[in-house]
Amino acid sequence: MNDRIHEVITDLKSYLEYLKGMGIGVLPASEKKEEKMIQRKSPTLEEIRKELGDCKRCKLHRTRRTIVFGEGNEKARLLFIGEGPGYDEDVQGRPFVGKAGQLLTKIIQAIHLEREEVYIANIIKCRPPQNRNPEPDEIESCFPFLMKQIQAIQPRIICALGTFAAQTLLQTDAKITSLRGKTFDLTGIKVLPTYHPAFLLRNPDKKREVWEDMKQISEWLTKEEAKGSTRK
Ligand code: URA
Repeated sequence: MNDRIHEVITDLKSYLEYLKGMGIGVLPASEKKEEKMIQRKSPTLEEIRKELGDCKRCKLHRTRRTIVFGEGNEKARLLFIGEGPGYDEDVQGRPFVGKAGQLLTKIIQAIHLEREEVYIANIIKCRPPQNRNPEPDEIESCFPFLMKQIQAIQPRIICALGTFAAQTLLQTDAKITSLRGKTFDLTGIKVLPTYHPAFLLRNPDKKREVWEDMKQISEWLTKEEAKGSTRK
């Protein structure tokens, strides 16, 4: 057996000498190695923001003041997704900073978290004129960036705020009343829709249902943590 191994090594050496003589100094990478080189890791939030640049991919760039990219913990376990920036968000360049935003902050604190511990984003990143609903071409341009953000953050659960976020994320026409409080799957990530904070400002009697939904999220996150998740 030893003789056979010796023979193979000698053959290999002379083959390498032969290649060297031909001017070939390196061997091609194995297929596995090439595969590894092709597998790209998902871009960071900073890289996604850079790629977005001074976005002019849809008509909203003509009327917006600032791009509201999203903010928070880039390793957040809980991600909130709203509809799109309003007046205050457009001015400040930050999501959910107006009246609805102040209520969202209270909702987050009610489950013993701070805004800085979660991530907050929107379906679209630029304010539509007169706060009208986002149009299909605007969503189409913006949504891939949100999906990249979701991939970068890898949250354990997404709370979709309101009809628009829920319907867009889940690709459904179902009403928010039938979606809220239920869990869905988006590429392996749990999605739980609830009412939008702006809706709650107009319908305070619906706060109880949002509280139920938030409790569900909080209890699920606690259970997940107990299972041994070390992520924040
Ligand atoms: N409403 C939203 O949906 N998003 C914001 O950022 C602010 C208000």
